[in-house]
Amino acid sequence: MNPLGLHALVWTGEWTPESARYAIERTKAVGFDLIEIPILEPETFDIAMTRQLLADNGLLAACSLGLSPDTDVSSADPAIVARGRDRLSAAIEVASGIGAGNLCGVLYSQLAKYPAPITALSRQHVVESVAWLSDQVAAAELPTSLEVVNRYETNVVNTVADMLTLLDEAGADITVHLDTYHANIEENGFIEPVQTAGQRLGYVHVGESHRGYLGTGTIDFPTFFAALRESGYTGPVTFESFSSAVVHPELSNILSVWRNLWDDSENLAEHAYGYMAEHLR
Ligand code: MN
Repeated sequence: MNPLGLHALVWTGEWTPESARYAIERTKAVGFDLIEIPILEPETFDIAMTRQLLADNGLLAACSLGLSPDTDVSSADPAIVARGRDRLSAAIEVASGIGAGNLCGVLYSQLAKYPAPITALSRQHVVESVAWLSDQVAAAELPTSLEVVNRYETNVVNTVADMLTLLDEAGADITVHLDTYHANIEENGFIEPVQTAGQRLGYVHVGESHRGYLGTGTIDFPTFFAALRESGYTGPVTFESFSSAVVHPELSNILSVWRNLWDDSENLAEHAYGYMAEHLR
């Protein structure tokens, strides 16, 4: 049975003790098994507070991030690549520290629209950093997955097949993080990416075509969930949704969250839980 998860940004765009408590308690109350916590700045993250709140509420956690311009491991500049590895080390420390079962997201690239295709040098830097990351997360015993995102969030890889090629090139013991929002833009439907990832699928994001309420956009969720069940995947399935109603100072702008697709977090979360449970349980 897949742990069903909820992205913390459904509740809050910050991670103060008050907002963390609110997000964790509400996620648990709605019925979810897991909360995904974005840690774009792991250096300032309150590990002890978060670990305690998770334990108090009996909730699983996943940590996610994308890299910034000055920590982009696909940069041609070795100094920026080095800062990227420092950022990833800090993220591993946070994820391990709070007892998260998964580290995921765009751990191999800046989360941004690049102005040109990736160069051979940048690609080489990514492969080396993914190999390095694989060693780090193995030592930390932290299951880690790289998210496949669309063309305006990275120029490194945009499909599951290309992600597998990258992971193989790096010789990495890291799995694929698949997201329906991105697959809807880049893949040949919703069966092929699940089948292509096969046993190497490690984390799943469920997001609508407009990133709002599930079932109100154009994504064929019945087909996707059926493919997921068919594949035997037992890992987390996490609902990700963004609205201008809840703003993260960095992430919301990076993801082009300009519209108000919902303003009732509670109703959105309950609806998502019901929708996912109906298809997966
Ligand atoms: Mn995602």
